[in-house]
Amino acid sequence: MGVRVRVEGVVQGVGFRPFVHGLATRLGLAGLVGNDAQGVFVELEGGREQIGEFLARLERDAPPLASIERVTVTTGATRAGGRFLIVESDPSGTARTLVSPDIATCADCLAELADPADRRYRYPFVNCVNCGPRLTIVRAMPYDRPLTTMAGFEMCGRCLAEYHDPADRRFHAQPTCCPACGPTLRLVGADPSAGGRFGRLIRAAGEPLAGAAEVLRAGGVLAVKGIGGYHLSVLASDEEATAELRRRKHRAGKPFAVMVAGLDEARRLCEVDEVAERLLTGPARPVVLLPRRAGAPMDGTVDSAVAGAVAPGTRHLGLMLPYTPLHHLLLDGVGAPIVLTSGNRSDEPIAYDDRDAFDRLCGVADAFLTHDRPIHLRADDSVVRPFRGRGMVLRRARGHAPRPFALPLDSPRHVLGCGAELKSTFCLAKGGHAVMSPHIGDLENYETLRSYVEGIEHFAALFGVRPEVVAHDLHPEYLSTKHALALPDVDLVPVQHHHAHIASCLADNGEAGPVIGVAFDGLGYGLDGTLWGGEFLLAGLASFERAGHLAPVPMPGGSAAIRQPWRMAAAYLDGDGDALAVARRNERWWASVTALARRGGSGAPPTSSAGRLFDAVAALIGVRDTITYEGQAAIELEQLADPGERAAYPAAVSDDLVVAGCDLVRAAAADLAAGTDPAVISARFHNGVGDVVVRCCRVLRDRAGLETVALSGGVFQNLLLLRRTVARLEEAGFRVLTHSGVPANDGGISLGQVAVAAARLQPDPL
Ligand code: ZN
Ligand code: ZN
Ligand code: FE
Repeated sequence: MGVRVRVEGVVQGVGFRPFVHGLATRLGLAGLVGNDAQGVFVELEGGREQIGEFLARLERDAPPLASIERVTVTTGATRAGGRFLIVESDPSGTARTLVSPDIATCADCLAELADPADRRYRYPFVNCVNCGPRLTIVRAMPYDRPLTTMAGFEMCGRCLAEYHDPADRRFHAQPTCCPACGPTLRLVGADPSAGGRFGRLIRAAGEPLAGAAEVLRAGGVLAVKGIGGYHLSVLASDEEATAELRRRKHRAGKPFAVMVAGLDEARRLCEVDEVAERLLTGPARPVVLLPRRAGAPMDGTVDSAVAGAVAPGTRHLGLMLPYTPLHHLLLDGVGAPIVLTSGNRSDEPIAYDDRDAFDRLCGVADAFLTHDRPIHLRADDSVVRPFRGRGMVLRRARGHAPRPFALPLDSPRHVLGCGAELKSTFCLAKGGHAVMSPHIGDLENYETLRSYVEGIEHFAALFGVRPEVVAHDLHPEYLSTKHALALPDVDLVPVQHHHAHIASCLADNGEAGPVIGVAFDGLGYGLDGTLWGGEFLLAGLASFERAGHLAPVPMPGGSAAIRQPWRMAAAYLDGDGDALAVARRNERWWASVTALARRGGSGAPPTSSAGRLFDAVAALIGVRDTITYEGQAAIELEQLADPGERAAYPAAVSDDLVVAGCDLVRAAAADLAAGTDPAVISARFHNGVGDVVVRCCRVLRDRAGLETVALSGGVFQNLLLLRRTVARLEEAGFRVLTHSGVPANDGGISLGQVAVAAARLQPDPL
């Protein structure tokens, strides 16, 4: 009998055709397999029993990186000859297949890298069908070498033989190469005259990797070309070099990530439990945010391996393991952990184009470790944090994108979700799944905006989506909103910011609601035109009701109050804190800012933001008065808290569910005046916020009969708050949904927007 099989999902670039070839050959089936724009097609000729066995094993034994979404089988005539063949790709038809994320170097390739007898010994670009670059090198679909950035490298005889040998693990591995035919590594000094200290070092070392290690050991800043862009690196133990990198990069306080050679080194620096181990060693290789070893003081001086300037003001450290052969070789050469942070200055996007990298990073890096395999798509490192036995993604990029999400409700039309403004992403959807872009960054920057607009076009082409419906934020000043409004011939679906947060949490959990949604974040545009951010919603995917919120408080000076948390302390204390240290520290402006807050109006717009409440308390107890990156005060407030403290500040809740956040601030101020340790105050504040969330949810359960609570918004990336809130909600009998696959912050908004649009497009909306 003859059958035609169509396989859809992540089935290209993951060794699927060789797998099918092997399976069919073992079962004695004739036929063919190939890639096309819809995925993989198979035509089989053979006995009924063998074909049955083939279909059973097709899903069961699929390669580890494949993710099968659908298998369709039809009987009929086939083109099968006597043997089983892999045929040329068919580029026609509508692209519907899914590209794989970039995958960390596999164990087999690492073994070759370390084997002096292997022809790829110490070759920095070794990869195979199970590992290597994917999304970042794909120019167009279908996934085949000519449509990747490896097109310019003609395979040598030996690579070609492996590529065509069904028994070889490089059978149809598109980026395969070797020292004879593949990319080459170069080390160049930033100084074009090749003079200076590092120029001499580089010349003396002779070989790029040895020279790069020398530059790091000598205290230099090294730019390293990675998978999705350039990194900047210094020796992690080098206090001076780390401080210098901060100066040159214009990055004052935001922690840097550290790459360590392996798990042993990770364990010397941080608490690595089973979940952390799985995240660190998984194929996505994200930055994993982990608690430092017990006893580590905040300045990081505990271990000489990590300088205090790497991650000031936090008890956590972002660690990652090498994910390219180049990283493995570099760490081997350096013999110590290195800082690895995105190659950019302050808020620009990460540099990925060679010329652009040289231009932009010339004054930052002392040398460039680079190569000639072009990067087509920019992708930062992903950041995850272990939470309740799994990873909670804080930034979703390399290694995760573009793995699709199953939408709770299929979308009858093609949809684009434009995301928010900060930590921007976009999301494309059709039918049952949604593909989110990697983290792009803050759209206020021109470079970032350009990469956002180009990214949408690239992804639309890759995934065969032609957006007919465009979902966007309500904020009229967001560049993402302006982008949506400027698109011709599309139907617009405006989605309120906090509704999108809750929808994003629902989609992350594959649920459609309705739920009690708690959306706590910095700011989002509300239905009434004011800035929201401490919201209790009764929400389904299609619609929501604002059921409660934090009491609005003026933001004296508008956005100045975001950069200067002490202004929020003044607004919350409303004249009652003049004797406190925060008032004395900001003596010059304290009275006028208090007056500005009281006047209200456009000089002090009211907000129900939970983020601003955290800011107020952080400034009040002396964590910091001004910030250098978004969320810094709240993050440091969390880090300061004494995790053993169980008491909680109370906050009044009105009948219409308005929470008096000022009660928490006043309780903190009273404790502070009484000489209580700020670490205890911070904990009591966190506990108080958690407890009042639970109280409001109980009221809403009684009112609406809903038993499930979804927690979203950037404030719920605060693990202390999240743990307390989840624990208390579960004690109270709630089922709690939290984020795992998409960030709780604005990086997850685009998925929420798409889920809302899909729900509103249902013939009979929920
Ligand atoms: Zn491999
Ligand atoms: Zn070769
Ligand atoms: Fe938000």
